[in-house]
Amino acid sequence: MVALLPQQVLITTPRGQASIPVTSERGAAAVAAVLLSGPLGLALSLDGSTIRARLAGSEFEFDLGAPFVGYAGTAYPLVGAPYVARDTVFLPLHWLSDYVPHLLAGRYRWNPWLARLDEMAAPAAPPPPTPAVVVAPAVVPPPVPNPMTGLRLSHTIVVDPGHGGVDPGNPGMHFPRGVAEKDITLGIGRLLRAELLRRGLTVVLTRATDTLIDLANRPLYCRADCDLFVSIHVNAMPPGKRQGQVNGVETYFLSDAKTEDQKRVAQMENDALRFDATGTVEGPLAYILRDLQLNEYLRESARLADLVQGRVAAVHPGGDRGVQQGPFLVLAAARRPAVLVETGFATHKEDGAFLTSAMGQRKIVNAIADGIVAYLLEFERKLAVGGPGR
Ligand SMILES: [Zn+2]
Repeated sequence: MVALLPQQVLITTPRGQASIPVTSERGAAAVAAVLLSGPLGLALSLDGSTIRARLAGSEFEFDLGAPFVGYAGTAYPLVGAPYVARDTVFLPLHWLSDYVPHLLAGRYRWNPWLARLDEMAAPAAPPPPTPAVVVAPAVVPPPVPNPMTGLRLSHTIVVDPGHGGVDPGNPGMHFPRGVAEKDITLGIGRLLRAELLRRGLTVVLTRATDTLIDLANRPLYCRADCDLFVSIHVNAMPPGKRQGQVNGVETYFLSDAKTEDQKRVAQMENDALRFDATGTVEGPLAYILRDLQLNEYLRESARLADLVQGRVAAVHPGGDRGVQQGPFLVLAAARRPAVLVETGFATHKEDGAFLTSAMGQRKIVNAIADGIVAYLLEFERKLAVGGPGR
């Protein structure tokens, strides 16, 4: 894989700015902690294998070699682990780019495109209260949870039925005549919208009819007012002796493909690029690789994939093929947790029948919706810990 890590991060503060080199010698991007002490005012202590980093009056705790950061009694997963090299502590860039802005809400802002961390000016001290004025209590009562889901906040989900229009997706060997992947993904997508609406969530479909949307444009539906992105697809095995045997469901999140099967599926789904008027392979692929390094939503996507996969696998007649990772263009541009569900194999007889049946589609849709709600419940619990800054 081409290394497109940021070479450095720029840290800007009201006291000045500094450029800190990023290293990827251990795979994941990391920064030397000692360099952060200058511009950020990070105070470090190393006690055995425990690293404590104090920043803006808050303490983060790391353990050498462990891909987690502790904050206010909670352990958060990290891409990469802290390590010591050349007598220097290196901390994962993920901590700086994701957790510092989120957990120290309002103090820092991360710009993934410029690899820049901005420290906000401290807010001006409030004027002293005037004793004569009666001030309304500042405590806002927590919103009442939705009785069906237990969710307290409103959430918007973007559902993306794969392919469409001149791009049929896979031809659907065990689907009825004239039915292709694009029809099944649209059917499941529309049912999923209805189910999520029923549960009180807001839903945007990238397509509600048989039309083609450029791959690179699909994630644009998931911007400011969007909590997560789910793309729906149907898998297929190429001709050969495994073709009719492989079955089951798998859920992907964006990463570099590790296995031949993962590469095959990513290639198949990215193949819709052929139909994109503007789609040059070089641009989008470079985009994916750049995005991989900076995607702060990678871990969240992995968790969402895990919850969705578990629910769907439990009701699927085929095997549980697990959470997978691949460089999917459709996931690359989403600035939110994003997953792609391969709901079964059109090249497998039983999977094909399941995917085309009303009962099968209903089971898949309920299971995906269960996974999404479970993820959002976790997300709301984390917000309660991390403050309102996300
Ligand atoms: Zn597909």
